[in-house]
Amino acid sequence: MRGINHAVNHLWENLFPEEKELQALFTCAIFYVSRGKERVRWTTFSVGSKEQTVELEEKGFRLEKTFTLWNGTPCVIGGCVPKEDTQKDRLITFLTAIFPAVSYYFSFPNEGNTNKYTDLLMEVTKKFHVSMRAGTVLKKMIDALKEVYPTSEVMLYLAQEWDVQKDLPEVPITYGMALENEKVQEVYLTARIHVENSRKGWSILYIPLRGQQGVYGVLQLSLPHHHVYHPIAEDFIKTLADMGGKALENRELYKSSRTLVKDLQLINETSHMLNSKLKVEETARNLEHQIKKFIPYGKTIFLMLDEDNNIRPLTDNFYENKELQDLAATVFNQFHQKTEAFIFSDIKASPCFQMEDYQSIMAVPMMQSREIIGTVIVLGEEKEAFTFHQFRLLQSLIEHSTLAFINASLQEKLELMVITDQLTQLYSRHYLDEKIRDSLQKDIQGTFLLLDIDNFKQVNDTHGHQVGDEILIQVANIIRSNIRSGDVAARWGGEELAVYLPRADLHAGKKVAWRIVENIARETNPPVTISGGVTTWKHGDHVSVDLLVLRADEALYEAKKRGKNQVVDAGVLTEAKSVDDFSKENDLSRGRDIHNR
Ligand code: GH3
Ligand code: MG
Ligand code: MG
Repeated sequence: MRGINHAVNHLWENLFPEEKELQALFTCAIFYVSRGKERVRWTTFSVGSKEQTVELEEKGFRLEKTFTLWNGTPCVIGGCVPKEDTQKDRLITFLTAIFPAVSYYFSFPNEGNTNKYTDLLMEVTKKFHVSMRAGTVLKKMIDALKEVYPTSEVMLYLAQEWDVQKDLPEVPITYGMALENEKVQEVYLTARIHVENSRKGWSILYIPLRGQQGVYGVLQLSLPHHHVYHPIAEDFIKTLADMGGKALENRELYKSSRTLVKDLQLINETSHMLNSKLKVEETARNLEHQIKKFIPYGKTIFLMLDEDNNIRPLTDNFYENKELQDLAATVFNQFHQKTEAFIFSDIKASPCFQMEDYQSIMAVPMMQSREIIGTVIVLGEEKEAFTFHQFRLLQSLIEHSTLAFINASLQEKLELMVITDQLTQLYSRHYLDEKIRDSLQKDIQGTFLLLDIDNFKQVNDTHGHQVGDEILIQVANIIRSNIRSGDVAARWGGEELAVYLPRADLHAGKKVAWRIVENIARETNPPVTISGGVTTWKHGDHVSVDLLVLRADEALYEAKKRGKNQVVDAGVLTEAKSVDDFSKENDLSRGRDIHNR
């Protein structure tokens, strides 16, 4: 047996003949091999002083791989690098790759052909470092087999469609492992080599392409009998095949780490974007944009639930589309039974969903402390429109953005609180002011009502302040139910309330005011009445909010003066002031006419 020093030198020269790139990778590393008690260190290119070497061995990152020789002698191949992560990764890949060659070399040092075998293994090993391409490594592997067994025939069965055929134009490759060929399947599943002897003096070897984490395919090799029974043949072939397996595994790991990095970037970018203060609708629009990046052909629907479990669509045309509404109900129903995201590749086959234009669906719930607060649904026109990866990424994106939705809707609630009077739930005076200002800018006319509860002090004195409050709430509710959705009712202060009717003319305004006055007299309990002042403006009037309020207030004052429980129109008032009392009386009696009808 040659000395271990000799063996190591041989290995070393073979691994790093002149390859500067490879040398550069390990300018700061120590490798060693031990066989039994013998130990040889390869200090590499420039570790430096003895102290540095010792320090590296003590404090560096160390990786060792062990194997046993045929006679039971334990062997170790190992290395130390400084503790930086990049160095660690290199060491791991490097040792993993050279391990088969080294253990092989030490196991069969005296075989006549050993050097040739070892050299071939070295060749493949080197390719491992120089190229990330699985095809290049597989090609080297097959070239090595062909060199040792020129008459052999090779076929490859690969678990997935790795893009390797162009590197191996001569080799028949079959993809996917759900095969008719039982032998191939068995070897793939058991990860153990299988030898089949055929009649004409040939054997067929099925060799698994193994990686650290699984089997990536099967190599089928047809050889004359006598080759197979050569003592080191099986080991050599297995070692080679393992290198092929590791190359495929590397390719896979590399690919999935790339995808992972891309996914993380997307999630990160989304989180950043969602951190900025956005409204709920804007948040949905932005998220939709992010989703389009990895599901370009899907239709995305965002739905939130309010406290009373009413659906708030953040998606256009929801209420015009009956199908979407049914879909939303079905999806929320499913989530109420089981709060888990789901994917269906063929909705037509499922009795729950009835959709004309779509065949695939993914739905992810938005959760806040175990409560469903909304969902994101993605629809696809084709069957099996989505991959599992898209589904997982969608889930993770929604998980990351739910908080942003919660924040945005809290913000909205907060804003609403500021513009809402807490007792009556009517808008605040400030908000009404703004709305009138808005309307003065963009509408052609509008009408303003100022309302004041009659003798409210007395009501408080008689029934107590709390009943007074309840009456205020009743009055507010009656006002709310007598106006349309575009109108704005506000608590003006104390027991004074105001309503602005954008685009309404005086006639409409008076009608609304009288309706409110009458209904309040009829429906409050204990009963109260209110008085109101009405004023209107038209395009070209040059009115301000203050002027409108002043006029309405004067009319209200007039209504009080005239006996309360009635409405006075400020326009009439101006006329009355400018014309005479007689005509004023006339107009007021007309107002009462409406009242009495
Ligand atoms: P008038 O018909 O002239 O409007 O007589 P009034 O008693 O309603 O008017 P006044 O301005 O003399 O009194 C207003 C009363 O409204 C006094 C105040 O205690 C009461 N008030 C104002 N805000 C509230 C409130 O939030 N809750 C209750 N319960 N009372 C209120
Ligand atoms: Mg009052
Ligand atoms: Mg008052």
